[in-house]
Amino acid sequence: MRLPPSTLPSLHWLQQHTAGLLRLLYPPQCLGCGASVSEAHVPLCAPCVRRLERPDPEAVLAHVRQLPGGEPVASAQALWAFDTGGVVQRVQHSLKYGNRPAQGRTLGRWMRHLFPAAHTGERLVVPIPLHRTRQLERGYNQSALLAEGLADALGASYQEALQRTRATASQTRLSRKQRQANVADAFAARSPQTLTGATIYLIDDVLTTGATLTAAAAALHTAEVAAVHVATLAFARS
Ligand SMILES: [Zn+2]
Repeated sequence: MRLPPSTLPSLHWLQQHTAGLLRLLYPPQCLGCGASVSEAHVPLCAPCVRRLERPDPEAVLAHVRQLPGGEPVASAQALWAFDTGGVVQRVQHSLKYGNRPAQGRTLGRWMRHLFPAAHTGERLVVPIPLHRTRQLERGYNQSALLAEGLADALGASYQEALQRTRATASQTRLSRKQRQANVADAFAARSPQTLTGATIYLIDDVLTTGATLTAAAAALHTAEVAAVHVATLAFARS
């Protein structure tokens, strides 16, 4: 049977309604508990967020400063304590491998609570860069998504102020000492003259030993920045 043309949905109609239909068929879900959430860019429902633990900033900073070379870090904070097998690990995994950039930026916006409006002057939000090869493989840098969202929420500038000078091995199986050696001199400041005097918010997804962040902070200090404050989504005490 042939339907008269007027009863067939037009391409325009389909385009207009596909997003709505998809939301009906696959409502966006909380990564923590599976409850439906209002928008696809929201990774967790409000009750799940309320249950997560905020690490004590003093403890995070003390942890980073245990590292030789950790002194140039002015403050260190994380939004949530890492929970192996738990909600934060699921969120972090999705951020790193799930290719959902809008969710990554939302997480970055949530990190604004780590920064009271105490810092004045030029504030630059800087992501830890991935090595070019790794970024090409994955297609995006999860720390850059966080930094973009945070910069947007704070009304600060986003700047890719660091580059990797060499590829580094995955840190996962390395000891604290090996991690430090692995990332030593792995970063350099890009256009250092644009960084002089700026307050830097240095952003990564997970803080473990702090070796990556302190190596990156040292590179930023060669550009005579005013201070480097580090913040991550999760703190996995090592
Ligand atoms: Zn939930």
